[in-house]
Amino acid sequence: MAADSAADEPRVTLSTTLKAMPGIGWSRADRFARLGLRKTQDVLFFFPRDHQFPPPPTRVDELREGQPATLIGRITECELASRSPGKSVFGAIVENESGAVRLLFFNQPFRADQLKFGVAVRLSGAPKLAGLRWEFTHPKYEILDDEEFASAHEHQGEILPVYPLTEGVKEYELRQLTRTVCNEVADQVKEVMPEPLRIAIADALKNAGMDIGDILPSISQTLRSIHCPASEQTLNAAKMRLVFQELFVMQLALAMRRQTLTGRLRAPPMTCSPQIKQRILRRFPFELTGDQLRVIETVASEMQRQFPMNRLLQGDVGSGKTVVAIFAMMMAVACGHQATIMVPTEVLARQHFRTLTTILADSQVKVGLLCGSLSASQRRETLRSIASGEINLIVGTQALIFDIEFHSLGLCVIDEQHKFGVKQRVRLRLGGIDPHYLVMSATPIPRSVAMTQFGDVDLSTLREKPSGRGEVHTYLASDGWKNRWWEFIRQRVAEGRQVYVVAPRVGDESETPETAPEDVEDVTSVNRVYEQLSHEVFPELRVELLHGRMKPEAKQAVMDRFAEGEIDILVTTTVIEVGVDVANATVMTILGGNRFGLAQLHQLRGRVSRGVHAGHVCVFTDGERSPEDSERLKVFEQTSDGFELAEADFRLRGPGDLLGQKQSGLPPLRIADLSRDVEVLKVAREMAQELIDEDPIMDAPELAMLKEQVLRRYGERLDLGDGA
Ligand code: ADP
Ligand code: MG
Repeated sequence: MAADSAADEPRVTLSTTLKAMPGIGWSRADRFARLGLRKTQDVLFFFPRDHQFPPPPTRVDELREGQPATLIGRITECELASRSPGKSVFGAIVENESGAVRLLFFNQPFRADQLKFGVAVRLSGAPKLAGLRWEFTHPKYEILDDEEFASAHEHQGEILPVYPLTEGVKEYELRQLTRTVCNEVADQVKEVMPEPLRIAIADALKNAGMDIGDILPSISQTLRSIHCPASEQTLNAAKMRLVFQELFVMQLALAMRRQTLTGRLRAPPMTCSPQIKQRILRRFPFELTGDQLRVIETVASEMQRQFPMNRLLQGDVGSGKTVVAIFAMMMAVACGHQATIMVPTEVLARQHFRTLTTILADSQVKVGLLCGSLSASQRRETLRSIASGEINLIVGTQALIFDIEFHSLGLCVIDEQHKFGVKQRVRLRLGGIDPHYLVMSATPIPRSVAMTQFGDVDLSTLREKPSGRGEVHTYLASDGWKNRWWEFIRQRVAEGRQVYVVAPRVGDESETPETAPEDVEDVTSVNRVYEQLSHEVFPELRVELLHGRMKPEAKQAVMDRFAEGEIDILVTTTVIEVGVDVANATVMTILGGNRFGLAQLHQLRGRVSRGVHAGHVCVFTDGERSPEDSERLKVFEQTSDGFELAEADFRLRGPGDLLGQKQSGLPPLRIADLSRDVEVLKVAREMAQELIDEDPIMDAPELAMLKEQVLRRYGERLDLGDGA
């Protein structure tokens, strides 16, 4: 009996340690442990960083004159001959079962120390026929030890995995190890995706133009193909499986989260009659664009639901997102609730406050402002009126609105929020308020990011610009442009336009240490630029300064006067980046443009595309421009579409950087690459959504293991509970 059951048990399992594996040995196992490889399953999931496709070694009888070839063999003869002082020739014969060739090295006597009798080599070069023998002059070569030689022989022409190495572990050892381990235990790994699902996935991938065959390979097959690929096709299918699975698991988690949020949370349903809608629309001094109307429809219908709207509205700067926000807020008020709009800066809060008070001038609706510069008593009074419900609309900076007491908050708009990740949303929700959410971002989000970091959010986009907008021309300044550009500015000001000059940093003395590296040039100091422009370049014009270190009232005073046209040239930092709206300002100079990212540059440019006049942006750089800087600035000069820019930015900077992976609240991806795998991601998302629509908590027994994987990786972070 005992003998029988022992025979059923596999000798080596997924948890067998390498030390206990026959043929590995303790000292080697210790070295593998440096790579984190202790058990066989560690080895299975230790993925190569790349694969090599070495050309198969050539047989001697297949060599061709001048054609590059690779040969493996042993040295069977060698001789170093000196002709005269400093002149030598070293010759060696390399032999294998298909024949022998000669190697020649002139004036490199040290070759004799490496290429000794009996040494095994892999050599490559282009041979010439000399008499009856093929000769390689100065070929490249690599000395192989006995095991490498044996292994090179055994696996001629195979696709080779390339593993990350560490001190004391050689590539061929890892290849041997993974091969052995795959043979022993790859079949023991449990499959989390049942066959019908894998067939459906292969089908969906094929429909999206990614044909990997009729079925996504099983996990066992995948592991074998990754470590010991039989062909390029099987390798590609295996890679696809790994990428797909990682994205699929994430998308299942996000779909479950969308599902549970809608199931758990309650929001006040708001019904918007056609009369209310017309009444709100009449308040805007212009016709809404088709895009605006379309988004308003969506928003209105979602706010009628019993559970919270959770929508991200993205649109390029100037696309008119505020109109949508105002509509939704007025709808909430019309239905007897409060609404709030949170912004990142006080300048923007004041601007929204002004817009709202203007639009609502002759109505019953009361608008309140909450920002840092209120006095303690003003603030207390405002908070009281918010709690009592006397104030209907509240505009404020985020920090202040987060945890105040509302009378009946129905809608929360979050403006200019491109750093709003899945996680922050949870915090807000747990804050005890349960309104509808509308999040607005002027940084268009690449598709792949929208599908991940914002994966639990519905997305709307404003692409159409309000009509009557001037074009924006972007110039990349070359040397010696400054005077010409200042002249251009003088002409525009003479025509009545206004100008921004943006410098990347605030002055010198007051710099905090981390923002003041020694190499900061004068030009980057907004104070110096201001001094220079106001005194030397444009003494006759009204030049003023605005930066983030000024007192809020002083800042506001400058902004107000700029808006009133009482300032010609505003020298500023990126304080104006966010949302500021002065239609008559049409010219922008960006100094130290190499210090800005694409998203920021585009935001800045948005400031001068607000009116009917054409905008002009000129970017100057300081210091050496790195190749990446040049590339980025070129893209900026040539692309004015925010969506294209966002995709380009994503390509140039790679994933994770744009929004900060940490901020998203999602664990980093290990295999998939969001800038490369967008198409796979789309399929994964659609399939995940379909699956969750049908089976919201993945209750089907055949999905149990997949569900376990989803919860293990995302359950806690996305607050999925036990999925029930
Ligand atoms: P953003 O999307 O950058 O927040 P805003 O909502 O601030 O854009 O709109 C930019 C400017 O365009 C504002 O001055 C706004 O009044 C104006 N605007 C918005 N929608 C329209 C429209 N449909 N027609 C004309 N002007 C519009
Ligand atoms: Mg805005």
